[in-house]
Formats: sequence, C-alpha cells, structure tokens
Amino acid sequence: MRAINIPRDGLPVTTARDMARDDSISGRFTLKTEVVVIGSGAGGSMVAWELARAGRQVLVVEAGPYHPSSAFTEHLGDTMTEIYREQAAQLNATADVLFPEGACVGGSTVIGACVMQQPPDSVLRRWSGELGLKNLAPDVIKPLFEEVGREQYVHLNDAHEINTTAHKVIQGCERMGFSWKPVSRNVRQCALTGHCLAGCPSDRKMSALVTHLPWAVGHGARVMADTEVTRVLIRNGRAYGVEAVVRDPRTRQKVADLRIDAEVVVAAGGAIQTPLLLQRSEIPDVSGQLGKNLAVQPFVQVLARFREELHGFRGALVGVEIDEFIETDGYMFFSALAEPEQLMIQGNQGAGPDHINFMKSYKHLAGLNAFAVDEGRGEVKWKGSHTDGRKVISWNPSRSEFEKLKHGAALASRVFFAAGAEEIYLPSFQRLSAPSVFDLDARLDEITYGVRGMYSLRINSFSSHGTCRMGVDRYQAVTNARGEVYDVKGLFVADASLLPEPMASAPHWTVQTLAKQVAQGIHARGQELFLKG
Ligand SMILES: Cc1cc2nc3c(=O)[nH]c(=O)nc-3n(C[C@H](O)[C@H](O)[C@H](O)COP(=O)(O)OP(=O)(O)OC[C@H]3O[C@@H](n4cnc5c(N)ncnc54)[C@H](O)[C@@H]3O)c2cc1C
Repeated sequence: MRAINIPRDGLPVTTARDMARDDSISGRFTLKTEVVVIGSGAGGSMVAWELARAGRQVLVVEAGPYHPSSAFTEHLGDTMTEIYREQAAQLNATADVLFPEGACVGGSTVIGACVMQQPPDSVLRRWSGELGLKNLAPDVIKPLFEEVGREQYVHLNDAHEINTTAHKVIQGCERMGFSWKPVSRNVRQCALTGHCLAGCPSDRKMSALVTHLPWAVGHGARVMADTEVTRVLIRNGRAYGVEAVVRDPRTRQKVADLRIDAEVVVAAGGAIQTPLLLQRSEIPDVSGQLGKNLAVQPFVQVLARFREELHGFRGALVGVEIDEFIETDGYMFFSALAEPEQLMIQGNQGAGPDHINFMKSYKHLAGLNAFAVDEGRGEVKWKGSHTDGRKVISWNPSRSEFEKLKHGAALASRVFFAAGAEEIYLPSFQRLSAPSVFDLDARLDEITYGVRGMYSLRINSFSSHGTCRMGVDRYQAVTNARGEVYDVKGLFVADASLLPEPMASAPHWTVQTLAKQVAQGIHARGQELFLKG
C-alpha cells in the first residue's frame, strides 16, 4: 500500500480546463484503455486501485469537478454549491425527500459523515442462504470487510471524540435504560472541527481523495474530472467502451465529446446515477429490475434545545449510536451535530424573526437522527430521449415506513427530554416543537401520514442502494454475483446499486467491500476479459 499523505493538491487529475488548453484535443477525441471506471466514489476508487495494482491500464472518468482538500472552506454552503449534486437539492418526484450526493472526484466519500458499519452476520447469512449469493457468506466476505476496514483506518470513537451532543444522548439513554455505543469512523487523528459534510481540509477523513484514488494513480491509473459518461457502448452482447462529454464545471459549456474504447467497463456512478446511465444506454434488462428496488435508509433529525451552551457543532460529527431497536422496531439512531449552516436547512422552519430567534439558539442545540429500515420499493427512472430526458426518483414512505420514522422521532425526543432538554423541535414541515415531554404526544399527533406521506416529516436519504441489485436469478436481478450485468459481457457494476436488499447498516464499508470483490473477480478472469490475458 502506498503512503497515505500525498501533497494536498497533488492528485494528478485531468480537468476540463487542462483539456481546453491542450491543442491536440479538438472538439471530439478518442482514448483507449483496458478498463474504464465510471465514477470515482466509494466503489469506483476501489476498483481503480485493485485493478491498477494488478497491472491493468485503468482510466477513471468522473462527472464532477476536482476539488482538492486544500480548497475546502469548512462552510457547508460553499461545498454544497461546488461538489454536491445539484447543489444538494436532488429531490424525489414530489419534492419532499432530499437525496444529497457527492458529485466530484472522490464522490460521496468526500462529504460523508465517516460512520463505518458492517452488516451483521445474520444479514450476510440471509443473502448467502435465502438469496443464494454464496459470495456474500460471512466466511467468504468477512476477510474482505476486514481488509477494507484496515485500508480505511476504521476505529471506534475514543472518549475525546464523543462531543457534548453525544453526551446528552448518552445521558438520556442511561436515564431511559437504553444501550448506546460509540460509532466506528474512518478518520485518522480527527481534528474534531465537525465539518465532515463540508469536506475535510486536513485530509484526516479517509475519503477516496486521500486513500484509493491516489493509491490507484500511484499504480498508473489516470483520473479525468468534469467528464460525464452519457452512454455505455454495447455490440453483440459485449461492452466495448463509453461515450462522454467534457464540460467546464463553472459554465457547464461543452469542452469536448469523448469516446473511450475499453475492454472492461465498470459503472460506479452510485445507486441513483448508475441505473439512469444504463437505462440511457438501453442495456438489455430481462429482469425488468433496472432502477427498481431503490432502498433509501430514510432518516429524520430531532433537535433539542438545552439551557446550557453545548457548542454541539464541535467535535466528531457522529459520536454514538443506539442500535437496540433495529431488530424489534426497524429503526436506529446516531447522535448528530447541530452545525449552524446545517441547522438553517434542517432546523425549525419559519422566516424572519422566528427563524432568527431559532438560529440564535444554535449554541444550545443538539441533534439525534432516527433512521428507519425501509422496504426498498423506490425507483429511479430516465424519462424521455437519450439526449433530452430527465431523471425521476420515486420514493415516498409507505405507511409503515412513515410510522417507523415517526416513532423514531418520538423516541429521540424522549431521550433528549430525559437528558434535560428545554424544548424539542420535531422534523416536520409544519413548525412543531414541544416544551416538555407532557406536550410531546399532542405535537406528534399533528404529524399525519397525508398524501403519500407528503407535507409531514422532513425526510433525508444519504444512502441509496439496490437499484442494480446482484442476484443469482437473471429474471430477478440486474447483475450476477460477480457484479457483471446479465447479458452484457464486460459490463460490471461496482457501487451502492449492487446491494441485493435494503439494509440498516451505513453502506460505505459494504459498497467498498463489494467493489473489491468485483474488481478481484475481474482480475481473476483476465484471459477471458482482456486481449492481453
Ligand atoms: C452527505 C452524505 C453523508 C454520508 N455519510 C455516510 C456515512 O457516514 N457512512 C456511510 O457508510 N455512508 C455515508 N454516506 C453514503 C456513502 O457515501 C455512499 O453509500 C457511498 O459513497 C456510495 O458509493 P458509490 O460508489 O455508490 O457512489 P459515490 O461515492 O456517490 O460515487 C459516485 C460518483 O460517480 C460520479 N458519477 C455519477 N454518474 C456519472 C457519470 N455518468 N459519469 C461519470 N461520473 C459519474 C458521481 O459524480 C460521483 O462522484 C453518506 C452520503 C452522503 C451524501
């Protein structure tokens, strides 16, 4: 493994600006490589590293810009404008559930909250037993999880990483008789500034910018930013490359059209963009499952105001978790910072003096996020023509998912009241707060399911998965157990789309482990897939 500390502007990335300056590049150009990886996030960076270090010629193409760590300002507003997809306003079709994603070199790992979880053995046994995915059996996949854990420097939060917000959660849990535990995170010597969602300027967060991308480049991989793949090219049931467009990240003007001829194509654009790309590419989809089975891990954030100043926006973004209700009730909790810019988005709605008064209390606020295990019924669809269409993300909570989120919000409120909160702000589109535990039920009664769950709970999803699920039955799944798309030889998926079922665990670790397995599988089939063997 290569040394971690690379110069902060030192990841050699070809950007649109470089291409515009290069006289040898006209409005249309062609490149050739053995492996083209679409997307440079959790999955794509892992595949790039695994295959580059195995001696393959790898080209990573990333739609988003290259934003070196030194450019992060720790202001969420700046980062959202620059490297979140659609400036962090990617919404479902009814515009009431937010789906933020990273769209930059490093993908969502650059803005991730650093929580690292493995799925429990019971889930892996189900996937390998009932679903027949033997490659996911605990004894097969666990060693890969461990390897990724070492690459990501996963560690349990130390005492100094548990901040005042998390301490309020601990206090509440102890009074309520709930268990809690520190979360595992992929950070080395965290600077505890609490701005993970705005990008880590100190390279302590083990995002792909710091780990697998520079390692891949160290083994000869090339990375191109500002380059969006528009179509995977398929002939006679075999992928042979991609078409892409290079755009100036500021003006969105086209700099060039690009064709990349490749022997293996790996789609790693994430669980929302990959199915859209494959739909636009009109890949054969005998299963009819492409873009379906979208699982979103929905969550709501409860905020609590305490009498004393907590400065709860400092410290590790996520400190402790409560997981004792997953099996019984289908929800879990993470303590969360109440960082001012995030509060302006998530916090109590209202305008003018109301909003100002709420924001003035920011030093006194703590947050607890309630996540629900969802049913994976969502769908991502490209509507319209290849060049002129639009994406539609369809996900609204079912009645039972809604009730889980509501119960989760109720429980989070009770934990904070037990810790002495003076007021709770409920995650509702109506402005709902409760000054005491005795008012809570009446306030909660005002949160009703409504039309498809709309206009009630303020729901976020950071962790989409499952839209190109892997499976052993070609009529039920988009890819086989090796991540190769059924009926398209040489086209692989290696991102969150692959997950076979909704799961409760934070996905980053699983995504990277599956991507490692896919990449090692590609390498093992060298003779079959590559001209050079
Ligand atoms: C704000 C936030 C916080 C999160 N926190 C956590 C956490 O604490 N723990 C955890 O486990 N998970 C977390 N996640 C989720 C985690 O980051 C994702 O599950 C994981 O990164 C998914 O990996 P991926 O490879 O599927 O996609 P990504 O990492 O999102 O990478 C996809 C990349 O592909 C690029 N791309 C897409 N389409 C194209 C195209 N057509 N051409 C070229 N490039 C393309 C995108 O721009 C993007 O850079 C968080 C996510 C967000 C948004």
